[in-house]
Amino acid sequence: MPAALDILQQTFGYPSFRGPQETIIQTIVEGDDALVLMPTGGGKSLCYQIPALVRPGCGVVISPLIALMQDQVNAMRELGVRASFLNSTLDAATAADVERALVEGELDLLYIAPERLTQSRTLDLLKRCEIALFAIDEAHCVSQWGHDFRADYLQLSLLHEQFPAVPRIALTATADEQTRLEIAARLQLEDAARFVVGFDRPNIRYRIGLKHNARQQLLAFLKAEHPQDAGIVYCLSRKKTEETASWLTTQGFTALAYHAGLPAEERAAHQARFLREEAVVMVATIAFGMGIDKPDVRFVAHLDLPKTIEAYYQETGRAGRDGAPANAWMIYGLQDVIKLRQMMQGSQGSEQHKRIEQHRLNAMLGLCEITSCRRQALLDYFGETYPEPCGNCDGCLEPAQTWDATEACRMALSAVARTGERFGVNHLIDVLKGKETDKIWQFDHHHLPTFGVGDALDNNQWRSVFRQLVGRGYLSVDLQGYGALKLQEKCRPLLRGECDIALRLDQKQKVAKRQTKTPLPEDINVAMWEALRECRRELAEEQSVPPYVIFHDSTLVEMCSVAPKTLDAFSRLSGVGERKLMKYGEAFIAVIKNTEQEQFG
Ligand code: ADP
Ligand code: ZN
Repeated sequence: MPAALDILQQTFGYPSFRGPQETIIQTIVEGDDALVLMPTGGGKSLCYQIPALVRPGCGVVISPLIALMQDQVNAMRELGVRASFLNSTLDAATAADVERALVEGELDLLYIAPERLTQSRTLDLLKRCEIALFAIDEAHCVSQWGHDFRADYLQLSLLHEQFPAVPRIALTATADEQTRLEIAARLQLEDAARFVVGFDRPNIRYRIGLKHNARQQLLAFLKAEHPQDAGIVYCLSRKKTEETASWLTTQGFTALAYHAGLPAEERAAHQARFLREEAVVMVATIAFGMGIDKPDVRFVAHLDLPKTIEAYYQETGRAGRDGAPANAWMIYGLQDVIKLRQMMQGSQGSEQHKRIEQHRLNAMLGLCEITSCRRQALLDYFGETYPEPCGNCDGCLEPAQTWDATEACRMALSAVARTGERFGVNHLIDVLKGKETDKIWQFDHHHLPTFGVGDALDNNQWRSVFRQLVGRGYLSVDLQGYGALKLQEKCRPLLRGECDIALRLDQKQKVAKRQTKTPLPEDINVAMWEALRECRRELAEEQSVPPYVIFHDSTLVEMCSVAPKTLDAFSRLSGVGERKLMKYGEAFIAVIKNTEQEQFG
């Protein structure tokens, strides 16, 4: 049996394993099961790819992401791995070909869609073959709590029943305990070795700001920090993704929309452009992104609030999988909270389910409103402790100023109480500011003791007070519609004057210094970098694969600084395996020599 480390170095061109990869691989190689929870970009794929090469037979990878299978297979073939896929996009003749190759033992890896796998025909076929392992990717799809639930995944327990001798490895980036337990139970992996990798993504910078003019804020952020980068902008509604994408296009960006309502071909075309071109901004609903294996997404921007911290973490986790600096940037306002609460109330599902969702949204709001380190709060949510403030989030970099809002909060809460907890923010502000609107007259609110007591703050400041009171759980938004605010148990001591409260002083969100452009070292040889990129682009185009399938940016950066001029030296670069050495070594070495010739004579 070839050793795992040899394969890592020779086939993948990486010098060493990351974190627990080696132990996970060992577990599978020895024929045991594993449940792997690793953040996006942590390096999950190697955990089944290498055992599939070490063990005799073909590794079968079950993935719901059929749109990505072609790219995954291409990337494997680039490394010299004999990979294929089976899903509904193949015509009958090609599928028959793949099946023949499988039976004849010509495949190392087979990617397959769950609905295909569970057909009895496929199961019979697999029983005639030697199977190295089953890898269940995106394993959280078995969870009925999550938003990625796939009914086909529930049937995957049959793997254990019908192939008891084949080791199984389930992988996911979803962290919460509920999902973890469901995966173990539904896939009969209770006895599997568990690997939970730290969820920190140190290269991602988290920032959450207040929404005042969403488009202009986004534009300022993109112009200052990502004028030529690939990234994802998440919106709640389909319409908004389309409007935002076309607006960004008028501002000079290559922006595309993505949502479940687009025709399938258009969706596929947009996704392909995002993967293949270098600076496409995808404006998308949450329908986009699961399993997007693009390492150089430099930012994820949220124009609307995600429903849960899990979703936020998963979506932002799509940034910076290559380990280079990346931004997770979000703006939100009270309106988002109201909208989400209404959507939740209107959704299907039991009362218990709604309560859990509510609880999760509250945690998300809490994250938005904290004035300390966001990373500490995030990791704390996932049950990890991060000892010191991280230094790479807005909480750490631009500490929020706070003000003593005790008096203002009492006024706000009393306005809610005295109007019978039946009104939304705008009317409550009118009451506080003593504005004589029709509605005020209609409900006789000009007689209230709180009428006009709030002159010291302007409307925006009052909105900020209400938003933070909701965010911190002093007020709730009425679920029946209209967004009326209601008092929560938590506000009693505050109303009785038994405690003080400090609120965040909202500032217009600062745009940080540009620091997340492609992570080039200061002293890089720019001419060489450009020439190498051009070479990579041409090769990628020739083979119609994304540029990063040829080499990652980090390999090109190393190429610039080492400037190898022999194949032997070239082979020592991280990311250069035997196959890529043979295929591309000469071409890149020629570029290096040429550039040096031009520069230094
Ligand atoms: P995940 O599936 O967990 O999101 P991937 O398997 O796509 O992550 O890996 C993320 C990136 O890290 C990939 O580009 C991969 O090639 C790289 N990578 C994984 N393991 C190693 C390693 N041991 N050394 C260097 N790079 C690695
Ligand atoms: Zn921090």
